[in-house]
Amino acid sequence: MVLGHEVSGIIDALGSDVKGFSVGEAVAIHPAQPCGHCPECMRGQRNLCRNMRFLGSAARDPHTDGGFRRAMTVKAAQLHTLPPGLTPRRACLAEPLSVALHAIARAGNVRGRSVMVQGVGPIGLLIVAGLVHHGAERIVATDLEDFPLQCATRLGASRCYNTRHTTVEEEFDILFEATGVPAALPAAIARTRRGGILVQVGMFPPGDIPVPIAQIINRELDFRGTFRFDTEFDAALALLAERPEIADILVTQQFPLSEFAAAFALAPDRRQAAKILLSLSS
Ligand SMILES: [Zn+2]
Repeated sequence: MVLGHEVSGIIDALGSDVKGFSVGEAVAIHPAQPCGHCPECMRGQRNLCRNMRFLGSAARDPHTDGGFRRAMTVKAAQLHTLPPGLTPRRACLAEPLSVALHAIARAGNVRGRSVMVQGVGPIGLLIVAGLVHHGAERIVATDLEDFPLQCATRLGASRCYNTRHTTVEEEFDILFEATGVPAALPAAIARTRRGGILVQVGMFPPGDIPVPIAQIINRELDFRGTFRFDTEFDAALALLAERPEIADILVTQQFPLSEFAAAFALAPDRRQAAKILLSLSS
């Protein structure tokens, strides 16, 4: 199976009935193909489609090949024209930025709110960028590594804490838990103010996870899930065009496709890598 669901490229050929695009045009590719007829699709929650096909996903059989290749065929409905000034290189970030914007939408209106982002891997960093764009008042980021916290500061976080060395005592209106580490959940619950909103962004491993559930109940926390995205893709492209530094901060290294093994080896090193780009044209 070919991996890769964060893809941009140039149109090489079009089906005879495709309108609105031209050969040679730069596009970003929406990785999702919802079925359009299940209950979730009918309700307009297409990201929750129970028959979803998603680039680079093994969730269904046959598997859906992704974008780590020089040529691929996709549905015209998956193509999104780039806004003026946005390069295909930066447009690769539309997919993870859409994930971040959907997580923010799950929290509701963040304008004027105090927000904590617990864990600033690429998605946490893009949540910071989205919160700045949506007018959050105070944005505090935490992580166990200094490098991603420096990235968060450059993206506009108000304060950053390395929680190896510091404990955050403050409480926040909204908290995004973006580590996906079960041991980090009690701290996320404790840092969400009474009546506040906790959005669980990180994917916990399968199985049972101990949770101080009474804290969620008697402090009236809203514990909300978030999964992928749907209509946020064009907003993500627009934000990447408006703030090119977002992609420039996130993309820390680039490799030609032939050096994919070196790229994958470097990717988990959070002291120097956020997003690593595979250049499909070289
Ligand atoms: Zn569906």
